[in-house]
Amino acid sequence: DKLLIIANGAYGERMADIAAHAGICHVVYNEVYYKVPDAQKIAEILDNDPSITHVSMVHSETTSGILNDIEAVAKAVKARNRTMIVDAMSSFGGVDIPIGEWGIDFIISSANKCIQGVPGFSFIIADREKLIASKGKARSLSLDLYDQWETMNKDGKWRFTSPTHVVLAFSQALKEMEEEGGIPARSRRYTENNRLLIEKMAELGIHPYIEAEHQGPIITTFCYPENHTFSFTEMYTYIKDRGYAIYPGKVTEADTFRIGNIGEIYRDDILKLMEIITEFLRESSHE
Ligand SMILES: *Cc1c(COP(=O)(O)O)cnc(C)c1O
Repeated sequence: DKLLIIANGAYGERMADIAAHAGICHVVYNEVYYKVPDAQKIAEILDNDPSITHVSMVHSETTSGILNDIEAVAKAVKARNRTMIVDAMSSFGGVDIPIGEWGIDFIISSANKCIQGVPGFSFIIADREKLIASKGKARSLSLDLYDQWETMNKDGKWRFTSPTHVVLAFSQALKEMEEEGGIPARSRRYTENNRLLIEKMAELGIHPYIEAEHQGPIITTFCYPENHTFSFTEMYTYIKDRGYAIYPGKVTEADTFRIGNIGEIYRDDILKLMEIITEFLRESSHE
C-alpha cells in the first residue's frame, strides 16, 4: 500500500517521520503553514497516482491553530475509493466531527486534549470492515490495532498492562463532558473563549497569524505587536507568575506565540489573562 500524507504543520510532518520509521511507503504533499491543503489538489494527486491507497491528514494543526477542511478532503478521497485517516488529536471532543457522514475511515484522538483527561492513551474510531481487513498486517506488535480490538472485545482489557489511572481519569472526564452538555456545549465554550481572546488581543494591536476563515477554536498563533522589545520568556514569566501559561510559537515562517483554549478555561479566565497581558505591554513599553 502507499500512503499520501498531507502536511501543513509539525504534526503532519511528524506523520511522515512515523511512516519513515515504520518503513511505510509514502508520499508527502506539503502546504505552507498558514494555508489549508486544497481538496482539489489532493484529488489531482490521487488521480495522477493510482498506487496511493491511503490518505492521512491532521484536522486541527496545533502548530498554528489552523482548522483543516477534512470534510472536503474526505469526500474527495472517498469518491476515489481510498482510505481516509484523520489525526483529530486536538479537535475531537472540542469540534463536532460527523465521522461517518464525511466518510472518515480511521480517526485518532487521545485522552488528554479536548476530552480534558490526563495523558496516557489514544483511541481510534474505525470503519469496522477496514479494521477487520487490517488483521495480521501490523508492522508493530505494540501498535497492532486489530489485535488490541479483538482482545478488548473479549475481556475489555488492554493486551499489556492497562493504564489504570488514566482510564479512571478518562471516565471522570467523560462524565464532566456530559455534565457540560456534551460536544456542542464544549465546542461553544472553546469557540466563544477563542473569539473573545482574538477580539481583546486586536484592541492591543496583536493579530492572529491564521486568517479568520481558517482559524480553529483550539489554539491561536499570534504575531508580536510591531516594534516590540520584550522576549517570549519575559512575557511568559510575567503571565506565569500571575497564574496562567501560554505557549511559544511553533510556525517556522514567522515570529509568534500561542494561546490555547483547551481545558477548564472560562470567560473570566480570558478577561483576567487579557488584563495581565495589557499590564505587561504597558510596563514593557515604559522601560
Ligand atoms: C498533541 C498532538 C499530537 C501528539 O500527541 P502525543 O500525545 O504527544 O503523541 C499529534 N497530533 C496533533 C495534531 C496534536 O495536537
